[in-house]
Formats: sequence, structure tokens, C-alpha cells
Amino acid sequence: MLNRRYSREVRVGGLTVGGNSKISIQSMTNTDTCDVEATYRQVKELGYAGCDIVRITAPTVDSVKTFSTLKERGIEVPLVADIHFNYKIAVAACEHGVDKIRINPGNIGDEENVKAVVDACRRHGVPIRIGVNSGSVEAELLEKYGSPTAEALAESALRHAAMLEKYDFYDTVISVKASNVTTMLDANRIIAERTSYPIHLGVTEAGGGTSAVVKSSIGIGTLLAEGIGDTVRVSLTDNPVNEVYAAREILGALDLCESGMDIVSCPTCGRTKIDLIGLLNSFKERIKEEGLDRLNIKVALMGCVVNGPGEAREADVGIAGGKGEGLIFKKGEIIRKVPENMLIDELIKEIKIIKEEI
Ligand code: SF4
Repeated sequence: MLNRRYSREVRVGGLTVGGNSKISIQSMTNTDTCDVEATYRQVKELGYAGCDIVRITAPTVDSVKTFSTLKERGIEVPLVADIHFNYKIAVAACEHGVDKIRINPGNIGDEENVKAVVDACRRHGVPIRIGVNSGSVEAELLEKYGSPTAEALAESALRHAAMLEKYDFYDTVISVKASNVTTMLDANRIIAERTSYPIHLGVTEAGGGTSAVVKSSIGIGTLLAEGIGDTVRVSLTDNPVNEVYAAREILGALDLCESGMDIVSCPTCGRTKIDLIGLLNSFKERIKEEGLDRLNIKVALMGCVVNGPGEAREADVGIAGGKGEGLIFKKGEIIRKVPENMLIDELIKEIKIIKEEI
């Protein structure tokens, strides 16, 4: 059990971020916000994948109508409006049922604008996330620190937070993101030490593929293991749904959530006489298609009958390959032999039986 840093609780729609609440997973749509149909579909897909909070860009005052339309169409997952520079969009978003806004008060002009946003947020019970990243650090801080260092990121975020505190507004979540993992780690440690605001973790512009997942896992995972962080977003140049899957894996690896099905598979070796890599890939596809991926069971896909069932003794169910065929086993006991082309179908059949029994 990790020792979590104390943080204030902030309500985001029906969800709590911070305190002892579960670490929530966020992602962001990449549809045109004004294309309500496409945005609705993507929000639904993200929610189905396990996304707890969905962020949607709000580039114009007109675009915020999408938030009220999504709510009218029954979207329950909390929605965040991502706003830059224009305080009027923030005020309009509050009036259209948004559950949180992401805006940096230092970037929206004079004091009156900040006050207008705070008043709207207070009136509608909408919290604010301050999101600082390497590219958004003020020129003055860049001059002071020479580059967007961890200190510069943290100081920038704390300045924005102070602008809200001036109006007694504390429903704030902070994120300090960098594409450099060590900068991101240090910046978040500073925020964790100097404030009690909930922290949104992420490695920004992490890229795509394996390197992006590794960077995010190290950045987000290290801080979570230190007890820092209340909500997470894995940034991938990919379908946003994959951000949710990656975040679930990170939280699951730290026992911070039920990450769904735990799949163990052997690395293959000279004994492997079936196409285990192909079988694993098609198995992963099938469990998503069949809606079985959120089932909290352990499934093993092992290359051989010699070591497979034994090595995967802890698995609820699994396969162990032979030559052109394989064995189905449950709890380390072999239950039947099937041809290789039937292995995944038979495995899915057994998983469905387990699902009925749970
Ligand atoms: Fe090799 Fe069998 Fe171990 Fe897989 S389970 S790595 S095939 S010995």
C-alpha cells in the first residue's frame, strides 16, 4: 500500500480528485469539438475503455455548446474544457455544464478577467486546472532560470494558483509537465512539497509507440510510487483510447486500480512450436471485441507444455503450446488438448465460463 501525499479534495462532476479518492484516468478527444457526433462517439469510446475524465478543447465561445449537447445526450463522464487565453470561453463553458476547466489565469489578461472566471467557476461549482508545461513558462521566469527548469515550471504554476487564491478560490488542480522525464519528476516534487492541491500527472509530448509508453510509465509511475499524484494522463501520438489503456497498465502495475485482465505470456524460446506472438495479438484483439478485457482474472499464454502450465500456476486459465496444437489449462491443471487454430476460441470460451461464475 503506497503512502499517498495529503491533497485537498476537488469535485469534478460526480468524481472526487485528491484526498483518498482513487487515482483517476484522463484523456483528451482529438475530434473537432464542433463536430458533436464525432466528439460524442469518442467520449463514449474513452468512457468504455475506462477513462474517468475526458478533456475537450474549447477554442471558441461557440464551441462550448458541445458540452451542453453532450450532457443532454446522456454523457456522464466528467468533461473538462481546455481553454487558452480567452476568459470569455471559460465563462461560457461554465454556463454550458462543463465539469472542470483547464486555464492558466496568468494568460487571460487583466485582473477583471481572472475575477470573471473565478466568479463563474464558483457560481457553477467548476474547479480549475492550472496546466504549466515547458512551452508555457513566462519569459520572465525563463530569464530568471535560463530555461524551463523544474523550478521555473513549479514557480509558474504557483504564480497562477496565487492569482486564484487572491479571490479565495482553492478548487484548483495543478499540473506541471515536461517532455523531459527528470524535469517533470522534479517539478512535481516541488509542487507536492509546497502545496496541498491535487496534482495531475503527465509527461507531455511523450511521442508515440514504446518509447512514449516507457517515458510516461517512468514519469507517472515514479511519482505515484512516491505517493504523489491524484489523476493521470498518458500523452500519446495515437488513438486517445490507447492513452487510457496505458494509464490503466501503469496504475495496475502499482496496485492502484483494477487494471482489468492480467495477461502473462512467456518470451518464447527454442521450445516454442506455435505462433505464440500471433496468438497473443489475436487474443488481445478478441478480449477487447468481446468486452472481456476489464475482467479481473489472470490469463497465461505459454509457449510449451513442458514449462507452461507450471510457470503459470497462478493463472486462472491459459494455454500451453505444443506442435500445431496446444493444451488448455486452468489453475495449472491441464483440461484438454485443441488444434492451434482453435486455441483462442477455446480460451475465450473458458474465460466466458469464468465470467459467469464470478
Ligand atoms: Fe520456452 Fe516453454 Fe518457457 Fe515459453 S514456457 S519460454 S516455450 S520453456
